Amino acid sequence: MSQGLISSAYLVAAVLFILSLGGLSHPESARRGNLYGMVGMAIAIVATLALPHVNAYVLIAVTMGVGAVIGIVVARRVVMTAMPQLVAMLHSFVGLAAVLVGFASYLDPSVQHHGVERTIHEVEIYLGVLIGAVTFTGSVVAFGKLQGIVTSRPMLLPARHWLNLGLLLVSLWLGWEFLQADPRGGLVALVLMTLLAFLFGIHMVIAIGGADMPVVISMLNSYSGWAAAATGFMLSNDLLIVTGALVGSSGAILSYIMCRAMNRKFLAVIAGGFGTPTGTSAAGVAEGREVNPISAEDTAQLLKDADQVVIVPGYGMAVAQAQYPIAAISEKLRARGVKVRFAIHPVAGRMPGHMNVLLAEAKVPYDIVLEMDEINPDFPETDAVLVIGANDIVNPSAQTDPDSPIAGMPVLEVWKARTVVVMKRSMATGYAGVENPLFFEDNARMLFGDAKKSVDAILAAL
Ligand code: NDP
Repeated sequence: MSQGLISSAYLVAAVLFILSLGGLSHPESARRGNLYGMVGMAIAIVATLALPHVNAYVLIAVTMGVGAVIGIVVARRVVMTAMPQLVAMLHSFVGLAAVLVGFASYLDPSVQHHGVERTIHEVEIYLGVLIGAVTFTGSVVAFGKLQGIVTSRPMLLPARHWLNLGLLLVSLWLGWEFLQADPRGGLVALVLMTLLAFLFGIHMVIAIGGADMPVVISMLNSYSGWAAAATGFMLSNDLLIVTGALVGSSGAILSYIMCRAMNRKFLAVIAGGFGTPTGTSAAGVAEGREVNPISAEDTAQLLKDADQVVIVPGYGMAVAQAQYPIAAISEKLRARGVKVRFAIHPVAGRMPGHMNVLLAEAKVPYDIVLEMDEINPDFPETDAVLVIGANDIVNPSAQTDPDSPIAGMPVLEVWKARTVVVMKRSMATGYAGVENPLFFEDNARMLFGDAKKSVDAILAAL
Protein backbone atom coordinates (compact mmCIF):
# COMPACT_ATOMS: atom_id res chain seq x y z
CA MET A 1 0.00 0.00 0.00
CA SER A 2 1.36 3.45 -0.88
CA GLN A 3 2.08 5.96 1.89
CA GLY A 4 -0.73 8.18 0.53
CA LEU A 5 -3.24 5.36 0.77
CA ILE A 6 -2.12 4.51 4.32
CA SER A 7 -2.47 8.17 5.37
CA SER A 8 -5.95 8.32 3.82
CA ALA A 9 -6.93 5.12 5.63
CA TYR A 10 -5.70 6.62 8.92
CA LEU A 11 -7.72 9.76 8.27
CA VAL A 12 -10.89 7.74 7.59
CA ALA A 13 -10.27 5.68 10.76
CA ALA A 14 -9.78 8.87 12.83
CA VAL A 15 -13.04 10.34 11.50
CA LEU A 16 -14.84 7.06 12.29
CA PHE A 17 -13.48 7.18 15.87
CA ILE A 18 -14.84 10.71 16.29
CA LEU A 19 -18.23 9.63 14.88
CA SER A 20 -18.09 6.65 17.25
CA LEU A 21 -17.63 8.89 20.30
CA GLY A 22 -20.49 11.09 19.04
CA GLY A 23 -22.73 8.03 18.70
CA LEU A 24 -21.86 6.71 22.16
CA SER A 25 -23.11 9.91 23.78
CA HIS A 26 -26.74 8.74 23.55
CA PRO A 27 -28.28 5.29 24.15
CA GLU A 28 -30.30 5.48 20.92
CA SER A 29 -27.23 6.04 18.74
CA ALA A 30 -24.80 3.93 20.83
CA ARG A 31 -25.12 0.83 18.64
CA ARG A 32 -24.23 2.87 15.57
CA GLY A 33 -21.35 4.46 17.52
CA ASN A 34 -19.98 1.01 18.36
CA LEU A 35 -20.20 -0.01 14.72
CA TYR A 36 -18.25 3.08 13.59
CA GLY A 37 -15.59 2.26 16.18
CA MET A 38 -15.29 -1.35 15.01
CA VAL A 39 -15.00 -0.42 11.33
CA GLY A 40 -12.50 2.34 12.20
CA MET A 41 -10.37 -0.09 14.19
CA ALA A 42 -10.44 -2.70 11.40
CA ILE A 43 -9.26 -0.07 8.88
CA ALA A 44 -6.57 1.09 11.33
CA ILE A 45 -5.22 -2.45 11.83
CA VAL A 46 -5.13 -3.25 8.08
CA ALA A 47 -3.41 0.07 7.28
CA THR A 48 -0.85 -0.45 10.06
CA LEU A 49 -0.06 -3.96 8.80
CA ALA A 50 0.58 -2.42 5.38
CA LEU A 51 3.25 -0.02 6.72
CA PRO A 52 6.58 -0.62 4.91
CA HIS A 53 8.55 -1.48 8.07
CA VAL A 54 5.94 -3.94 9.39
CA ASN A 55 6.94 -7.41 8.22
CA ALA A 56 6.81 -9.84 11.19
CA TYR A 57 3.48 -11.14 9.93
CA VAL A 58 3.71 -14.59 11.51
CA LEU A 59 4.42 -13.18 14.97
CA ILE A 60 1.63 -10.60 14.58
CA ALA A 61 -0.84 -13.25 13.38
CA VAL A 62 -0.03 -15.53 16.33
CA THR A 63 -0.29 -12.78 18.97
CA MET A 64 -3.46 -11.36 17.42
CA GLY A 65 -4.93 -14.88 17.34
CA VAL A 66 -4.11 -15.51 21.02
CA GLY A 67 -5.45 -12.05 21.97
CA ALA A 68 -8.63 -12.55 19.96
CA VAL A 69 -9.35 -15.93 21.58
CA ILE A 70 -8.82 -14.54 25.09
CA GLY A 71 -10.92 -11.47 24.21
CA ILE A 72 -13.82 -13.52 22.84
CA VAL A 73 -13.82 -15.93 25.82
CA VAL A 74 -13.69 -13.06 28.37
CA ALA A 75 -16.36 -11.01 26.57
CA ARG A 76 -18.70 -14.01 26.42
CA ARG A 77 -18.15 -15.01 30.03
CA VAL A 78 -18.16 -11.63 31.78
CA VAL A 79 -21.36 -10.87 33.64
CA MET A 80 -22.74 -7.35 33.48
CA THR A 81 -21.86 -6.68 37.12
CA ALA A 82 -18.20 -7.47 36.46
CA MET A 83 -17.99 -5.11 33.48
CA PRO A 84 -16.39 -2.22 35.46
CA GLN A 85 -13.60 -4.53 36.66
CA LEU A 86 -13.04 -5.68 33.09
CA VAL A 87 -12.78 -2.06 31.92
CA ALA A 88 -10.27 -1.33 34.71
CA MET A 89 -8.27 -4.39 33.66
CA LEU A 90 -8.27 -3.27 30.01
CA HIS A 91 -7.00 0.17 31.04
CA SER A 92 -4.12 -1.56 32.83
CA PHE A 93 -3.18 -3.34 29.57
CA VAL A 94 -2.93 0.00 27.75
CA GLY A 95 -0.64 1.28 30.51
CA LEU A 96 1.54 -1.83 30.43
CA ALA A 97 1.73 -1.67 26.62
CA ALA A 98 2.98 1.94 26.84
CA VAL A 99 5.70 0.85 29.30
CA LEU A 100 6.83 -2.06 27.13
CA VAL A 101 6.79 -0.04 23.90
CA GLY A 102 8.79 2.68 25.70
CA PHE A 103 11.52 0.23 26.75
CA ALA A 104 11.55 -1.46 23.32
CA SER A 105 11.79 1.90 21.61
CA TYR A 106 14.68 2.96 23.86
CA LEU A 107 16.64 -0.25 23.33
CA ASP A 108 15.93 -0.61 19.59
CA PRO A 109 19.37 -0.37 17.86
CA SER A 110 17.75 0.56 14.54
CA VAL A 111 16.42 3.84 15.99
CA GLN A 112 19.19 6.39 15.47
CA HIS A 113 18.32 9.96 16.47
CA HIS A 114 20.80 12.79 16.98
CA GLY A 115 20.81 16.19 18.68
CA VAL A 116 17.41 17.77 19.39
CA GLU A 117 15.58 14.90 17.70
CA ARG A 118 17.15 12.44 20.13
CA THR A 119 16.18 14.59 23.13
CA ILE A 120 12.58 14.85 21.90
CA HIS A 121 12.40 11.10 21.33
CA GLU A 122 13.76 10.36 24.80
CA VAL A 123 11.34 12.81 26.43
CA GLU A 124 8.51 10.99 24.62
CA ILE A 125 9.81 7.65 25.93
CA TYR A 126 10.23 8.93 29.49
CA LEU A 127 6.75 10.49 29.64
CA GLY A 128 5.13 7.51 27.91
CA VAL A 129 6.66 5.04 30.36
CA LEU A 130 5.77 7.30 33.32
CA ILE A 131 2.10 7.70 32.38
CA GLY A 132 1.87 4.06 31.33
CA ALA A 133 3.32 2.76 34.61
CA VAL A 134 0.98 4.92 36.74
CA THR A 135 -1.99 3.80 34.63
CA PHE A 136 -0.96 0.15 34.91
CA THR A 137 -0.73 -0.22 38.69
CA GLY A 138 -3.50 2.35 39.33
CA SER A 139 -5.86 0.31 37.16
CA VAL A 140 -4.83 -2.96 38.80
CA VAL A 141 -5.67 -1.51 42.25
CA ALA A 142 -8.97 -0.10 40.87
CA PHE A 143 -9.72 -3.62 39.56
CA GLY A 144 -9.00 -5.00 43.04
CA LYS A 145 -11.28 -2.46 44.70
CA LEU A 146 -14.16 -3.09 42.30
CA GLN A 147 -13.71 -6.85 42.58
CA GLY A 148 -13.70 -6.59 46.38
CA ILE A 149 -10.14 -8.02 46.68
CA VAL A 150 -8.85 -4.67 47.98
CA THR A 151 -10.97 -2.77 50.52
CA SER A 152 -13.00 0.11 49.07
CA ARG A 153 -12.04 2.23 52.08
CA PRO A 154 -9.16 4.68 51.58
CA MET A 155 -5.83 3.40 52.90
CA LEU A 156 -3.93 6.47 53.99
CA LEU A 157 -0.21 6.44 54.72
CA PRO A 158 1.09 9.10 57.11
CA ALA A 159 2.54 12.14 55.28
CA ARG A 160 1.21 10.78 52.00
CA HIS A 161 1.28 14.16 50.26
CA TRP A 162 4.98 14.54 51.12
CA LEU A 163 5.54 11.02 49.85
CA ASN A 164 3.86 11.92 46.54
CA LEU A 165 5.89 15.13 46.28
CA GLY A 166 9.08 13.16 47.00
CA LEU A 167 8.21 10.63 44.27
CA LEU A 168 7.60 13.49 41.81
CA LEU A 169 10.90 15.22 42.60
CA VAL A 170 12.91 11.99 42.34
CA SER A 171 11.20 11.22 39.01
CA LEU A 172 12.17 14.68 37.70
CA TRP A 173 15.77 14.15 38.79
CA LEU A 174 15.85 10.68 37.19
CA GLY A 175 14.42 12.25 34.01
CA TRP A 176 17.32 14.71 33.95
CA GLU A 177 19.83 11.87 34.43
CA PHE A 178 18.07 9.86 31.70
CA LEU A 179 18.35 12.69 29.17
CA GLN A 180 22.00 13.39 30.04
CA ALA A 181 23.11 9.77 29.56
CA ASP A 182 24.73 8.36 26.40
CA PRO A 183 22.43 6.64 23.89
CA ARG A 184 20.88 3.66 25.68
CA GLY A 185 22.95 4.48 28.77
CA GLY A 186 19.99 5.83 30.74
CA LEU A 187 18.43 2.42 31.27
CA VAL A 188 19.01 2.39 35.04
CA ALA A 189 17.30 5.78 35.45
CA LEU A 190 14.41 4.57 33.28
CA VAL A 191 13.98 1.35 35.28
CA LEU A 192 14.11 3.22 38.62
CA MET A 193 11.54 5.76 37.44
CA THR A 194 9.28 2.93 36.23
CA LEU A 195 9.41 1.29 39.66
CA LEU A 196 8.61 4.61 41.35
CA ALA A 197 5.72 5.23 38.91
CA PHE A 198 4.37 1.74 39.70
CA LEU A 199 4.42 2.66 43.41
CA PHE A 200 2.81 6.03 42.70
CA GLY A 201 -0.06 4.39 40.78
CA ILE A 202 -0.76 2.02 43.69
CA HIS A 203 -0.48 4.79 46.27
CA MET A 204 -2.71 7.18 44.33
CA VAL A 205 -5.67 4.81 43.87
CA ILE A 206 -5.43 2.98 47.20
CA ALA A 207 -5.84 6.33 49.02
CA ILE A 208 -9.15 7.04 47.30
CA GLY A 209 -12.29 5.96 49.11
CA GLY A 210 -15.29 4.08 47.72
CA ALA A 211 -17.39 7.21 47.33
CA ASP A 212 -14.92 8.71 44.86
CA MET A 213 -14.23 5.60 42.78
CA PRO A 214 -16.38 6.72 39.79
CA VAL A 215 -14.02 9.65 39.25
CA VAL A 216 -11.02 7.33 39.51
CA ILE A 217 -12.46 5.00 36.87
CA SER A 218 -12.94 7.83 34.37
CA MET A 219 -9.59 9.37 35.34
CA LEU A 220 -7.76 6.09 34.59
CA ASN A 221 -9.68 5.94 31.32
CA SER A 222 -8.22 9.35 30.51
CA TYR A 223 -4.69 8.29 31.57
CA SER A 224 -4.88 5.21 29.36
CA GLY A 225 -5.65 7.56 26.43
CA TRP A 226 -2.64 9.77 27.18
CA ALA A 227 -0.46 6.66 27.55
CA ALA A 228 -1.62 5.54 24.08
CA ALA A 229 -0.96 9.03 22.65
CA ALA A 230 2.57 8.96 24.14
CA THR A 231 3.09 5.54 22.51
CA GLY A 232 1.95 7.10 19.22
CA PHE A 233 4.66 9.77 19.56
CA MET A 234 7.31 7.13 20.32
CA LEU A 235 6.34 5.11 17.25
CA SER A 236 5.66 8.21 15.08
CA ASN A 237 2.17 6.84 14.45
CA ASP A 238 -0.29 9.69 13.77
CA LEU A 239 -3.41 7.60 14.21
CA LEU A 240 -2.33 6.35 17.63
CA ILE A 241 -1.68 9.96 18.69
CA VAL A 242 -5.14 11.04 17.50
CA THR A 243 -6.88 8.04 19.06
CA GLY A 244 -5.01 8.43 22.35
CA ALA A 245 -5.83 12.13 22.48
CA LEU A 246 -9.53 11.36 21.81
CA VAL A 247 -9.65 8.81 24.65
CA GLY A 248 -7.55 11.03 26.93
CA SER A 249 -9.66 14.14 26.45
CA SER A 250 -13.03 12.37 26.51
CA GLY A 251 -11.95 10.62 29.73
CA ALA A 252 -10.93 13.98 31.19
CA ILE A 253 -14.31 15.48 30.28
CA LEU A 254 -16.05 12.47 31.82
CA SER A 255 -13.99 12.90 35.02
CA TYR A 256 -15.10 16.53 35.15
CA ILE A 257 -18.75 15.54 34.67
CA MET A 258 -18.43 12.87 37.37
CA CYS A 259 -16.83 15.37 39.78
CA ARG A 260 -19.66 17.82 39.16
CA ALA A 261 -22.24 15.05 39.65
CA MET A 262 -20.66 14.21 43.01
CA ASN A 263 -19.94 17.80 44.04
CA ARG A 264 -16.23 17.02 44.37
CA LYS A 265 -13.18 18.99 43.36
CA PHE A 266 -10.95 17.00 41.02
CA LEU A 267 -7.81 17.80 42.99
CA ALA A 268 -9.51 16.80 46.24
CA VAL A 269 -10.35 13.42 44.72
CA ILE A 270 -6.76 12.88 43.54
CA ALA A 271 -5.47 13.91 46.97
CA GLY A 272 -7.59 11.02 48.28
CA GLY A 273 -8.98 10.22 51.67
CA PHE A 274 -12.70 10.53 51.06
CA GLY A 275 -15.12 7.70 51.70
CA THR A 276 -13.98 6.99 55.26
CA PRO A 277 -16.92 6.39 57.54
CA THR A 278 -16.75 9.12 60.17
CA GLY A 279 -18.65 7.60 63.05
CA THR A 280 -22.01 7.60 61.28
CA SER A 281 -22.79 4.26 62.84
CA ALA A 282 -25.96 2.27 62.26
CA ALA A 283 -26.90 2.82 65.86
CA GLY A 284 -26.33 6.58 65.52
CA VAL A 285 -28.54 6.72 62.46
CA ALA A 286 -31.26 4.51 63.87
CA GLU A 287 -31.44 6.01 67.37
CA GLY A 288 -33.66 3.17 68.48
CA ARG A 289 -35.99 3.56 65.50
CA GLU A 290 -37.37 0.49 63.76
CA VAL A 291 -37.69 -0.03 60.04
CA ASN A 292 -41.10 -0.82 58.49
CA PRO A 293 -41.05 -4.04 56.46
CA ILE A 294 -43.50 -4.60 53.59
CA SER A 295 -44.51 -7.69 51.57
CA ALA A 296 -44.36 -8.07 47.79
CA GLU A 297 -48.18 -8.30 47.68
CA ASP A 298 -48.62 -5.03 49.58
CA THR A 299 -46.03 -3.40 47.32
CA ALA A 300 -48.02 -4.54 44.27
CA GLN A 301 -51.20 -3.04 45.80
CA LEU A 302 -49.35 0.21 46.49
CA LEU A 303 -48.27 0.40 42.87
CA LYS A 304 -51.78 -0.37 41.59
CA ASP A 305 -53.22 2.45 43.68
CA ALA A 306 -50.61 4.98 42.55
CA ASP A 307 -50.97 7.58 39.80
CA GLN A 308 -47.24 8.31 39.57
CA VAL A 309 -44.45 5.82 40.19
CA VAL A 310 -40.69 6.37 39.99
CA ILE A 311 -38.27 3.42 39.87
CA VAL A 312 -34.69 4.04 41.10
CA PRO A 313 -32.26 1.30 40.01
CA GLY A 314 -28.86 0.84 41.66
CA TYR A 315 -26.00 -1.62 41.82
CA GLY A 316 -28.20 -4.30 43.48
CA MET A 317 -30.42 -4.44 40.38
CA ALA A 318 -27.33 -5.28 38.33
CA VAL A 319 -26.25 -7.95 40.85
CA ALA A 320 -29.70 -9.54 40.92
CA GLN A 321 -30.21 -9.15 37.13
CA ALA A 322 -33.66 -7.80 37.93
CA GLN A 323 -33.88 -5.41 34.96
CA TYR A 324 -36.19 -7.69 32.92
CA PRO A 325 -38.97 -8.23 35.51
CA ILE A 326 -38.76 -4.57 36.56
CA ALA A 327 -39.22 -3.57 32.90
CA ALA A 328 -42.23 -5.93 32.76
CA ILE A 329 -43.69 -4.29 35.90
CA SER A 330 -43.31 -0.84 34.36
CA GLU A 331 -45.08 -2.05 31.20
CA LYS A 332 -47.97 -3.54 33.22
CA LEU A 333 -48.41 -0.38 35.25
CA ARG A 334 -48.24 1.83 32.17
CA ALA A 335 -50.93 -0.33 30.53
CA ARG A 336 -53.11 0.44 33.58
CA GLY A 337 -52.58 4.18 33.05
CA VAL A 338 -49.99 4.70 35.81
CA LYS A 339 -47.29 7.24 34.97
CA VAL A 340 -44.03 5.29 35.43
CA ARG A 341 -40.54 6.73 35.08
CA PHE A 342 -37.01 5.56 35.86
CA ALA A 343 -34.60 7.86 37.72
CA ILE A 344 -30.91 7.50 36.94
CA HIS A 345 -28.21 8.89 39.20
CA PRO A 346 -24.94 9.65 37.35
CA VAL A 347 -22.90 7.31 39.59
CA ALA A 348 -25.51 4.56 40.07
CA GLY A 349 -23.93 1.12 39.76
CA ARG A 350 -20.20 0.67 39.31
CA MET A 351 -19.56 2.37 35.99
CA PRO A 352 -20.75 5.53 34.23
CA GLY A 353 -23.92 4.64 32.29
CA HIS A 354 -24.22 1.24 34.04
CA MET A 355 -27.97 1.53 34.67
CA ASN A 356 -28.74 2.96 31.22
CA VAL A 357 -27.11 -0.09 29.63
CA LEU A 358 -29.14 -2.52 31.76
CA LEU A 359 -32.44 -0.74 31.13
CA ALA A 360 -31.72 -0.53 27.39
CA GLU A 361 -30.98 -4.28 27.47
CA ALA A 362 -34.43 -4.84 29.00
CA LYS A 363 -35.97 -2.60 26.28
CA VAL A 364 -37.21 0.12 28.63
CA PRO A 365 -38.21 3.06 26.35
CA TYR A 366 -35.62 5.87 26.50
CA ASP A 367 -38.24 8.58 26.99
CA ILE A 368 -39.23 7.28 30.45
CA VAL A 369 -35.61 7.10 31.67
CA LEU A 370 -34.77 10.43 33.30
CA GLU A 371 -31.59 11.97 34.69
CA MET A 372 -31.36 13.05 38.33
CA ASP A 373 -31.79 16.78 37.63
CA GLU A 374 -34.89 16.14 35.52
CA ILE A 375 -36.67 13.93 38.05
CA ASN A 376 -35.72 15.45 41.43
CA PRO A 377 -38.35 18.24 41.32
CA ASP A 378 -41.08 15.61 40.68
CA PHE A 379 -40.62 13.49 43.83
CA PRO A 380 -43.06 15.51 46.03
CA GLU A 381 -45.87 14.69 43.53
CA THR A 382 -44.88 11.01 43.28
CA ASP A 383 -47.11 8.44 45.01
CA ALA A 384 -44.68 5.53 45.15
CA VAL A 385 -40.95 5.14 44.63
CA LEU A 386 -39.38 1.72 44.12
CA VAL A 387 -35.70 1.77 45.08
CA ILE A 388 -34.21 -1.40 43.67
CA GLY A 389 -30.76 -2.28 45.00
CA ALA A 390 -29.69 1.36 45.38
CA ASN A 391 -28.28 2.84 48.56
CA ASP A 392 -25.67 5.65 48.41
CA ILE A 393 -27.46 7.49 45.60
CA VAL A 394 -30.64 7.87 47.69
CA ASN A 395 -28.92 8.69 51.00
CA PRO A 396 -30.37 11.89 52.55
CA SER A 397 -27.34 12.27 54.83
CA ALA A 398 -25.50 13.69 51.78
CA GLN A 399 -27.68 16.76 52.36
CA THR A 400 -28.18 16.67 56.13
CA ASP A 401 -24.90 15.46 57.64
CA PRO A 402 -21.91 17.72 56.89
CA ASP A 403 -19.56 15.09 58.41
CA SER A 404 -20.73 12.33 56.08
CA PRO A 405 -18.14 11.07 53.57
CA ILE A 406 -20.73 11.73 50.85
CA ALA A 407 -21.70 15.21 52.18
CA GLY A 408 -22.54 17.53 49.28
CA MET A 409 -23.01 14.73 46.74
CA PRO A 410 -26.29 15.38 44.89
CA VAL A 411 -28.71 12.50 45.53
CA LEU A 412 -32.13 11.40 44.31
CA GLU A 413 -34.56 12.94 46.80
CA VAL A 414 -36.80 9.87 47.03
CA TRP A 415 -37.83 10.56 50.65
CA LYS A 416 -39.99 13.45 49.40
CA ALA A 417 -42.42 11.00 47.74
CA ARG A 418 -45.52 9.72 49.56
CA THR A 419 -44.15 6.18 50.03
CA VAL A 420 -40.71 4.73 49.27
CA VAL A 421 -40.20 0.97 49.02
CA VAL A 422 -36.53 -0.04 49.33
CA MET A 423 -35.57 -3.47 48.01
CA LYS A 424 -32.36 -4.93 49.41
CA ARG A 425 -31.26 -8.06 51.21
CA SER A 426 -30.19 -6.66 54.57
CA MET A 427 -29.39 -3.44 56.42
CA ALA A 428 -25.85 -3.47 54.93
CA THR A 429 -24.31 -0.22 53.69
CA GLY A 430 -23.63 0.62 50.03
CA TYR A 431 -20.26 0.98 48.31
CA ALA A 432 -19.26 4.16 50.17
CA GLY A 433 -19.72 2.35 53.50
CA VAL A 434 -22.14 5.00 54.83
CA GLU A 435 -25.28 4.22 56.86
CA ASN A 436 -28.55 5.36 55.29
CA PRO A 437 -31.18 7.12 57.46
CA LEU A 438 -33.73 6.80 54.62
CA PHE A 439 -34.58 3.27 55.77
CA PHE A 440 -35.89 4.62 59.11
CA GLU A 441 -38.13 7.34 57.65
CA ASP A 442 -41.85 7.03 58.43
CA ASN A 443 -42.77 6.86 54.73
CA ALA A 444 -40.12 4.21 53.95
CA ARG A 445 -40.92 0.49 53.66
CA MET A 446 -38.26 -2.23 53.44
CA LEU A 447 -38.81 -5.17 51.10
CA PHE A 448 -35.99 -7.50 52.15
CA GLY A 449 -34.64 -10.22 49.87
CA ASP A 450 -32.86 -10.69 46.57
CA ALA A 451 -34.11 -7.98 44.20
CA LYS A 452 -34.90 -10.45 41.40
CA LYS A 453 -37.05 -12.61 43.70
CA SER A 454 -38.81 -9.56 45.15
CA VAL A 455 -39.52 -8.06 41.72
CA ASP A 456 -40.75 -11.42 40.39
CA ALA A 457 -43.12 -11.68 43.38
CA ILE A 458 -44.46 -8.14 42.79
CA LEU A 459 -44.94 -8.96 39.11
CA ALA A 460 -46.84 -12.14 39.99
CA ALA A 461 -49.04 -10.20 42.42
CA LEU A 462 -49.76 -7.55 39.81
P1 NDP B 1 -24.65 0.98 46.46
O1 NDP B 1 -23.39 0.20 46.33
O2 NDP B 1 -24.67 2.19 47.28
O3 NDP B 1 -25.82 0.05 47.03
C1 NDP B 1 -26.21 -1.12 46.41
C2 NDP B 1 -27.17 -1.85 47.35
O4 NDP B 1 -27.69 -2.95 46.63
C3 NDP B 1 -26.47 -2.38 48.58
O5 NDP B 1 -26.82 -1.62 49.70
C4 NDP B 1 -26.93 -3.83 48.70
O6 NDP B 1 -27.58 -4.03 49.94
C5 NDP B 1 -27.97 -3.96 47.56
N1 NDP B 1 -27.86 -5.24 46.86
C6 NDP B 1 -26.75 -5.89 46.45
N2 NDP B 1 -27.07 -7.03 45.87
C7 NDP B 1 -28.42 -7.14 45.92
C8 NDP B 1 -29.35 -8.12 45.47
N3 NDP B 1 -28.97 -9.24 44.86
N4 NDP B 1 -30.65 -7.88 45.69
C9 NDP B 1 -31.07 -6.76 46.33
N5 NDP B 1 -30.23 -5.81 46.75
C10 NDP B 1 -28.91 -5.99 46.55
O7 NDP B 1 -25.14 1.26 44.95
P2 NDP B 1 -25.72 2.58 44.30
O8 NDP B 1 -26.00 2.20 42.89
O9 NDP B 1 -26.81 3.16 45.13
O10 NDP B 1 -24.52 3.60 44.37
C11 NDP B 1 -23.33 3.39 43.63
C12 NDP B 1 -22.10 3.48 44.55
O11 NDP B 1 -20.99 2.92 43.87
C13 NDP B 1 -21.76 4.92 44.88
O12 NDP B 1 -21.19 5.00 46.16
C14 NDP B 1 -20.72 5.24 43.82
O13 NDP B 1 -19.87 6.29 44.22
C15 NDP B 1 -19.97 3.90 43.75
N6 NDP B 1 -19.27 3.67 42.48
C16 NDP B 1 -19.84 4.05 41.29
C17 NDP B 1 -19.13 3.93 40.11
C18 NDP B 1 -19.74 4.46 38.84
O14 NDP B 1 -19.00 4.86 37.96
N7 NDP B 1 -21.07 4.44 38.72
C19 NDP B 1 -17.78 3.32 40.08
C20 NDP B 1 -17.31 2.84 41.38
C21 NDP B 1 -18.05 3.03 42.52
P3 NDP B 1 -27.68 -5.51 50.59
O15 NDP B 1 -26.29 -6.03 50.67
O16 NDP B 1 -28.34 -5.28 51.91
O17 NDP B 1 -28.55 -6.30 49.67
